[in-house]
Amino acid sequence: MTLDDDGTIIEIGQLTHETPSTEFYNGIIVPGFVNSHCHIELSHLQDKFERNSGMAGFIRQINRLREVADKEARLKSIQYQMEQLYSSGVSAMADISNCNESFETKSKSKLYTRTFLEVFGTEEKDVPKIEEGVISLTQQAQSFGIDAAPTPHSCYTMSKKLLQHITKIAIDYNWLSYHNQESWEEEQLLINGTGPLADEYNNRGLSTPPVTGESALLYFLDIVKSVGISDTAKVLLVHNTFTNKESIQKAKDIIKELYWAICPLSNLFIHQALPPLQLMRREGLNITIGTDSLSSNHTLSIVEEIKTIQNFFPDIPLIEILEWSCYNGAKFLNKEDVLGSFEVGKRPGVVLIDNIDYSNFKLTDLSRSTRLI
Ligand SMILES: [Zn+2]
Repeated sequence: MTLDDDGTIIEIGQLTHETPSTEFYNGIIVPGFVNSHCHIELSHLQDKFERNSGMAGFIRQINRLREVADKEARLKSIQYQMEQLYSSGVSAMADISNCNESFETKSKSKLYTRTFLEVFGTEEKDVPKIEEGVISLTQQAQSFGIDAAPTPHSCYTMSKKLLQHITKIAIDYNWLSYHNQESWEEEQLLINGTGPLADEYNNRGLSTPPVTGESALLYFLDIVKSVGISDTAKVLLVHNTFTNKESIQKAKDIIKELYWAICPLSNLFIHQALPPLQLMRREGLNITIGTDSLSSNHTLSIVEEIKTIQNFFPDIPLIEILEWSCYNGAKFLNKEDVLGSFEVGKRPGVVLIDNIDYSNFKLTDLSRSTRLI
């Protein structure tokens, strides 16, 4: 492969002769990764949370710990982790923001980010105030020159009215990222209105979504249908730990540009569970990989996510997992013309993964990724 000075690929082929600029590496080279789900502004929460808390326990921890570090420390963590992501080979990221603390770092980073300004609020009376807040945050993001738009958080943290309004706004912007079926508690809340999430909200005197008797994704799909969706609007469902065949098939019927982000290490951290990857593959889904935040992961590393998938699903070929890690995420971000694969004219970044088990074509525990270009 021959590259221009700015990293654009000008030729791909077999090496026929060495030139003084030919470089050799031991490992495999892959295009820059796309981290399709992160909350970079929570980077200061590394190693602060207890594992295996379940969803209700996780919410209690985030409410208690979100602002324990002072602003300077929070900004430093954001900057440090963005640099780590880039040097470990991440070329683009879909990142969730609830405030403006990551905007400046993102605007200066070589890593491309699309920011999802995430909205939640369980009480219907708060809808106008919350909408005003996110519109102002959108303007702030735009003033930093970063790509950003509002997005709904989840079915369990939002009143139906807020979920409808923000879903409509996100679809109008053509991009939506939504936490979907992350826990069995979320499913139980929608199916029969009970369980730890229901208890958590009831104890705090907060409203819960309507009990529909159906899977949480079906509730969201009804809302998507009611506000209307174009064939070009891209929807990323994140986590999908407890999704099932019926939900998947209905989603495919309603949403044309549909992507499914998995965050294996985060799911293991909070729930000791993983999404039904074999079912998702059989359904031919566009799977992408995210790290989630350092509140529920010890590291923001795509290679560590790939190793986890390999360990639990040894039948899935590495080449397929790499496609989830690079190309599918680029497609979600509408950046497949530049990123996600090695093709002449693209500038995806070049990443070395070392310590490969060549005979089985798998990563090993020692594999690390390093950006070469
Ligand atoms: Zn998340």
